[in-house]
Amino acid sequence: MAKKTLKKIHSILGDKEIYWVGDGFPVRTLFAYPNLGPLLSPFLMLDYAGPKQFDSADEQRGVGEHPHRGFETITIVYSGEIDHRDSAGGGGHIGPGDVQWMTAGSGVVHEEFHSSDFTQQGGLLEIVQLWVNLPQKDKLTKPRYQSIENEQIPVLSFANNSGQMRVIAGHYDNVIGPAQTFSPMNIWDLQLKADNMFHFELAEKDTAVLVILSGTVGIAGEKNLLKSAEVAIFERAGSQLVLEAMTNVKALLLSGEPINEPIVGSGPFVMNTAEEIHQARMDYQTGKMGHLS
Ligand code: MN
Repeated sequence: MAKKTLKKIHSILGDKEIYWVGDGFPVRTLFAYPNLGPLLSPFLMLDYAGPKQFDSADEQRGVGEHPHRGFETITIVYSGEIDHRDSAGGGGHIGPGDVQWMTAGSGVVHEEFHSSDFTQQGGLLEIVQLWVNLPQKDKLTKPRYQSIENEQIPVLSFANNSGQMRVIAGHYDNVIGPAQTFSPMNIWDLQLKADNMFHFELAEKDTAVLVILSGTVGIAGEKNLLKSAEVAIFERAGSQLVLEAMTNVKALLLSGEPINEPIVGSGPFVMNTAEEIHQARMDYQTGKMGHLS
């Protein structure tokens, strides 16, 4: 039997500046598809908002009406609460542990604000928004929302009470995550306790990206430690990933089958050609993606 080989790091990303999305989300973009697109595919971008303490306020902070087309936005709330409203008449609260999986597809217009309760009470905001690409054949699919509540996400405990994994999408062993996806991928939300080792088996040739939200991790076969708000993108070769939690760690481990198609994006649109981006702008401006009522 062939020896299993360790996955090697292709690149480490870090030192990201904080900028504001609207007045609600102090964000660091931990990875993004320009330059790295083929290596990250099917993942496009990951924004990490907070952790930041907000004082109580009267006006809901956030980001107003804006469109998306051609991909999916996955919002994972760790702390705080978001209100979402869109042009298809959908909306709702996304609270701690909840995940909203929005397929923008052919196009939606939406807004994202702190919920009224969170605004009034104030508190700690910590949110991840991940963008996932759609295969060319599904880019203009009908918009869809999967409101995945905390209770629906299976939680697996690692041996000796050393940590846990929430399977948001895909599977781990025979535990299956609730999100429906257009291409095969795994989204694992990890909490690892200090001074423990963790072995993960990933499909050879899949994209693999480790996002550290907090804590410090050692990776077998690598010199560099990975710290809070840093990302490791791995080579395709190899299937074994061995992590050592140097502290308590909160992390996302993303893996998936690359979509080997051209990526052409501009702002809130991600398509395959420049013509399709032009069309997306036209369709938004002429109201074909709808409006908030
Ligand atoms: Mn948005």
